[in-house]
Amino acid sequence: MRRRDSASYGKLPSRSRCTRCRKRAVVHLPSHNANFCDSCFVFFFKNAVKRALKLFPVKRDTPIMVAVSGGKDSLAAWLVLEELGFKTLGVHIDLGIPEFSQASRRAVESFAKSRALGYRVYSIVDLLGYSLPEIYKRTNRMVCAVCGTVKRQLLNRIAFQEGFRVVATGHNLDDEASRLLGNIVRHREQYLEKSYPYLPSIGKKIPARIKPLFRVEADEIRIYCQIKGIDYFSGTCPFSRGATSHIFFEALNFLEAEMPGTKRDFLFHFVRNHTPPETDINYKTCSKCGYPSYSDLCSLCSLKERLGNQGD
Ligand code: SF4
Ligand SMILES: [Zn+2]
Ligand SMILES: [Zn+2]
Repeated sequence: MRRRDSASYGKLPSRSRCTRCRKRAVVHLPSHNANFCDSCFVFFFKNAVKRALKLFPVKRDTPIMVAVSGGKDSLAAWLVLEELGFKTLGVHIDLGIPEFSQASRRAVESFAKSRALGYRVYSIVDLLGYSLPEIYKRTNRMVCAVCGTVKRQLLNRIAFQEGFRVVATGHNLDDEASRLLGNIVRHREQYLEKSYPYLPSIGKKIPARIKPLFRVEADEIRIYCQIKGIDYFSGTCPFSRGATSHIFFEALNFLEAEMPGTKRDFLFHFVRNHTPPETDINYKTCSKCGYPSYSDLCSLCSLKERLGNQGD
């Protein structure tokens, strides 16, 4: 595959000038045909997030709970929302995956402490009685599917308990474009509308979801973290080997190498031509926990039943 001229930091010759202020440039962004100095890159990055936020009906004084994994995306999302003036709380769910979860948790804690940001850590073992590897062994379901369900459900509940109506996640342009491609290729029409970067709340108990980084690429987030001194955890989850999402990711990178800007156009065209999904009114109430659910038991309660854990 032809290697695309990728975004970089600190590799430009000293004569390179910032596209915005004409000072010495250190950031190279080929997909925008631009070079920036540190501060103009931060301006560009914040602007991309502000543009993303315009799409969400979220007022500037709305407190936002940020789901933080300890990786570059969620820590960058947290910092940029804080710097844009939002009141935030970082919430980390410790999945109990040996070594990986300890390192993820340490990254969140040291980031929050170094910037005096409010945060909470919840452990899946405390909440459900089992770690993710144990849940995987007991249920024998696709581990990433279980992990996704558990994280989504627990974050909804934590947001409700903590009094938040909006949850932000760190999904970036690459994540969203490859997810959209996967849903189109597999004809998963039912998931297409969920590819929109804003999902409205459902009743009082399910908060709205926003993806403030959907307009920025993974490489741009790496550069933002480097400039801002964000010490994120860059390890890979041991379960990620079985995931198929990276295939769509690679497919888009191939297209991007041949036709720069494809990834952006693909995702932004979808967003421009769609509206946020309507608030879903076809839900029932879980007979066990009272949370919105599509069936008699919500996915978390049915997982608990499968695990033989009758506690709430
Ligand atoms: S790779 Fe799968 S199991 Fe690991 S954190 Fe991501 S979704 Fe969860
Ligand atoms: Zn500049
Ligand atoms: Zn339930």
